[in-house]
Amino acid sequence: MAKKKFKAESKRLLEMMINSIYTQREIFLRELISNASDAIDKIYYKALADDSLVFNKEDYYIKVTADKANRTLTITDTGIGMTAEELENNLGVIAKSGSLAFKEANEAKDGHNIIGQFGVGFYSAFMVADDVTVISKALGSSEAFKWESKGADGYTIEPAEKDSVGTEITLKIKANTEEDQYDEYLEEYRLKSIIKKYSDFIRFPIKMDITTSQPKADSENEFEEISEEQTVNSMVPIWRKNKNELTDEDYNNFYAEKRYGFDQPLKHIHISADGAVVYNAILFIPENTPFDYYTKEYEKGLELYSNGVLIMDKCSDLLPDYFSFVKGMVDSEDLSLNISRELLQHDRQLTLIAKNIKNKIKSQLQSLLKDEREKYNQFYSAFGRQLKFGVYNDYGMHKDTLQDLLMFYSSTEKKLVTLDEYVSRMPEDQKYIYYAAGESVERIEKLPQTELVADKGYEILYFTDDIDEFAIKMITSYKEKEFRSVSSGDLGIETDAADKPTDAEENENKELFEAMKGILSGKVKDVKASKRLKTHPVCLSTEGELTIEMEKILKSMPN
Ligand code: ADP
Ligand code: MG
Repeated sequence: MAKKKFKAESKRLLEMMINSIYTQREIFLRELISNASDAIDKIYYKALADDSLVFNKEDYYIKVTADKANRTLTITDTGIGMTAEELENNLGVIAKSGSLAFKEANEAKDGHNIIGQFGVGFYSAFMVADDVTVISKALGSSEAFKWESKGADGYTIEPAEKDSVGTEITLKIKANTEEDQYDEYLEEYRLKSIIKKYSDFIRFPIKMDITTSQPKADSENEFEEISEEQTVNSMVPIWRKNKNELTDEDYNNFYAEKRYGFDQPLKHIHISADGAVVYNAILFIPENTPFDYYTKEYEKGLELYSNGVLIMDKCSDLLPDYFSFVKGMVDSEDLSLNISRELLQHDRQLTLIAKNIKNKIKSQLQSLLKDEREKYNQFYSAFGRQLKFGVYNDYGMHKDTLQDLLMFYSSTEKKLVTLDEYVSRMPEDQKYIYYAAGESVERIEKLPQTELVADKGYEILYFTDDIDEFAIKMITSYKEKEFRSVSSGDLGIETDAADKPTDAEENENKELFEAMKGILSGKVKDVKASKRLKTHPVCLSTEGELTIEMEKILKSMPN
């Protein structure tokens, strides 16, 4: 039986594409600039293989020009251009990617900077334009051609005039409607910011004529509009630079420029991973807690670049919740993007990168803890709570990652200490890691329950944060030492037989205890004589899992 080819209703297909692939209109510029960059790259790769071709970097650029009066936006490049046949094949056939074909044909020659692959990006121009004209002259050809289309209805190709090799794409920007505004795509300022956002690290200059108002010569009060050509992209991404050439100031500037925060970064982490996963990343630990950090509004995530082109503003899959305070970006060459290049196919690569990043953050925090304690303290006061939530959440699944990063106030050191430091100081006869929970250090110091443990000379960790005790319950033990609240019934402290209240002592006050129990009925389970107390007449103690502090917190939580 003869096999039949699928037919596609290309008009509908195009409409679908234009209207449903992308969530944001502004990316049309990213797509057209990426194509222009690919076209220049192709000359570059050809020149690598062909000695008769010289690639002078200065000759290659992309230019974006807006003409408000005519409502046109033009993107010009000095790239490889297209023949009539290529215009037909690449722009006339949806989902045909000349760039992918080029990459495949030149695989051996390292074509990895080329961005195109799906053959749909170009049509995003129709999100903002109702007429698109492409005039192109291919490298090595003497004629130029013009491709023109109003969208779904089809296209025309005819000979045209063009002096230099390259491509010029002109968009007739749509008129504003009641619901949709398009004027912004003719505003210099807006165009510049879109370029900065998505295409800042395109490797060739993206130029624009920028108008500024300047004082007239020999006049103080008169101004004139001056238009000057500027390169608006930074081209070389800081993360591709050699770490040795970069200063703290470079990283701080990048942090500010990217608006990761209004503070200064406390620490930066520059990763150039070259193993099972290849990626570059620059991560920051901020100095201060963002104002919305502990609210639902806060969104975690890292910027994700594929080959220097921004794909996602906040890729949340790259960061675990407990490191949600980390800011920064990741750039990778081999991500499998989905067709809109806004999302990723759920892929192994991303999971590997995320895991890698998590380990890097952890080890950097550990070295901060070890070598720069002052800074770690500052970090901990901003984000320590998040680490403790991290231990508690997901049923303690991440405790192994996080427990070494925790600190609590120590009764003997009078400062924050790690669990490791605590355990390494424990005298041999000390069975448990003792802690006392309360509102503040001052309040805990006055707790009668701490007396016996403190008298033995043992260190007590003070839990002043609501989450502390809940987090510790998830850890249960550290270096084989269990945690024990000072208000627990069994403190595991050797008491002499003579230290226990004698029967006589118990009986002596039996009536008083009964009376107290009566008055406090429903509030306490028992009233007993105790040898735990030194200077206080009375204290509360608990039996079982929940301590008094935890009960208080649970009661105060909304159901
Ligand atoms: P993709 O970039 O994913 O291949 P596009 O729809 O953006 O898909 O572009 C389709 C094809 O058209 C490209 O692969 C390329 O061959 C060609 N093309 C588009 N823009 C240009 C340009 N400025 N210069 C040369 N060729 C271009
Ligand atoms: Mg493209």
